[in-house]
Amino acid sequence: MYRTHNNGQLRAADINKEVTLAGWVQKTRDKGFMVWVDLRDRYGITQLIFDEERTSKEVIEKAAKLGREFVIQVKGTVIERESKNPNMPTGDVEILVSELNILNESLTPPFTIEDETDGGEDLRMKYRYLDIRRKPVRENLIFRSKVAMAVRNYLSNEGFIEVETPYLIKSTPEGARDFVVPSRMNEGQFYALPQSPQTFKQLLMVGGLDKYFQIVKCFRDEDLRADRQPEFTQIDCEMAFVEQEDILKAFEGLTKHLLKEINGIEISEFPRMTYDEAMEKYGNDKPDIRFGMEFGELNAVAQHKDFGVFNQAELVVGIAVPGGNAFTRKEIDNLIDWLKRPQIGAMGMVYVRCNEDGTYKSSVDKFYNQEDLAKWAEATGAKTGDLICVLSGAKNKARTQLSALRMHLAEQLGLRKNTEFAPLWVVDFPLLEWDEETNRYHAMHHPFTSPKPGQLELLDTNPGDVKANAYDLVLNGNEIGGGSIRIHDKKTQALMFDYLGFTPEEAKAQFGFLMDAFQYGAPPHGGIAFGLDRLVAILGGQETIRDFIAFPKNNSGRDVMIDAPATIDQKQLEELHLKVELKS
Ligand code: ASP
Repeated sequence: MYRTHNNGQLRAADINKEVTLAGWVQKTRDKGFMVWVDLRDRYGITQLIFDEERTSKEVIEKAAKLGREFVIQVKGTVIERESKNPNMPTGDVEILVSELNILNESLTPPFTIEDETDGGEDLRMKYRYLDIRRKPVRENLIFRSKVAMAVRNYLSNEGFIEVETPYLIKSTPEGARDFVVPSRMNEGQFYALPQSPQTFKQLLMVGGLDKYFQIVKCFRDEDLRADRQPEFTQIDCEMAFVEQEDILKAFEGLTKHLLKEINGIEISEFPRMTYDEAMEKYGNDKPDIRFGMEFGELNAVAQHKDFGVFNQAELVVGIAVPGGNAFTRKEIDNLIDWLKRPQIGAMGMVYVRCNEDGTYKSSVDKFYNQEDLAKWAEATGAKTGDLICVLSGAKNKARTQLSALRMHLAEQLGLRKNTEFAPLWVVDFPLLEWDEETNRYHAMHHPFTSPKPGQLELLDTNPGDVKANAYDLVLNGNEIGGGSIRIHDKKTQALMFDYLGFTPEEAKAQFGFLMDAFQYGAPPHGGIAFGLDRLVAILGGQETIRDFIAFPKNNSGRDVMIDAPATIDQKQLEELHLKVELKS
């Protein structure tokens, strides 16, 4: 037996017990006549003591040679510690060692294995297995496992069954590029890795499984924006014989369960907001509602004066920044510079100080009097002491820019508290979204999403206005889940493909299997998928999903530890019938 106890286990009640422990050397203190070693494993740290008077010379000498991260096994007696450490669960005791067995030596690690390490991100990723020895990383992985387990427990109690779907498939359109895998046995042909199990879960409903879930890897070849991973995990779900309301109820239940189980927080009912309302009030389809700063539209009160910029704008829109009148001129100029950066692209910002004496001071005093500005304050809900920030221009652009400013300011003002949780459903998404690049409409969710009843006719006249049976679950400004009620008849699905620019041949080649299945009694069905990585990070009160993934990839999609992706040798290429021609 390698050990009788782990390193987080022993307490004062164990004094005088003979024990065997094993683990890694966290640190040693060598006073010549006495050596202390902190022994670490997943469960904690236990102090070992080697003492000239009570430990044999040979063992003491061996102990003096121990380096950081050596793997050792010790036998000894639990004794009371002279100077107790109340901050350590095992801090009342230490082990008086009689036998020391070095199980494996270690090179000096390239960074300290401490809660606060001296290793930079790149180095820690290269030696991720050492990083995982650090408590914060280990705890994040344990936390993730706890969340995944709570999901499985809840869903299986609710009658969902976990079904695995294949990874080597044909394209699933979820808006990204596919990762592809060449087939050795089928010359010139490729599998695609699933962007999600979308079509398979629908086929499981046709297969009569009724309630499906899977904690599953998905693969999307996207330019990696901050904190995205090319492979990520979804809690993927589907139900048959349901309407939108049934799905919202079922997965509000799951989310409530997680918030309670994991964070000890009870939330009665999640608010709901239509997509249009979210865009109007927050300029964003995943609004963070932990704080106010709702948009106030100012067209009615700011146009038709002499200020040309506003008169020409499609939308004039503002927010009241609580306590923002305290910003210095320099701070406001910095905000304006921030807005003008190409990432945001605003032309400028008009602002109004709401003075303590009830007067207003704006950057456009030439055009607007106190009475005008009071109307702005009313429309944005500004109070004395606030600052009103106003943007204008094309509707969508102005909203997006103001939304970015709202989030930026909330961050600055400390309003995005990671101990507060504000979920909400955003419903009634548009079915289609205009794509500037290809100059045509795309499915906003995916091509299997059904339009709201009776709206199909609008496709020909006002395609942008057609609403979908689609919904997102938003938590603290992040989309943590999204799904839809699906199309389940062949005719509508064919119409949809046609509308999205697939020729009947293309639709058949890519999705013939689904259309075929729909001819054999497909039940009405719908589902949702949660992004597990993000959900875990938010519940854990942290920002980056990478911290909750055991072996994440960096921003260029590389695994720097195993050094992937990598070239493959000529023989392998030949077997795959491939020839590589590098473009650059
Ligand atoms: N397959 C969708 C996604 O990955 C989710 C769904 O519609 O259920 O976003």
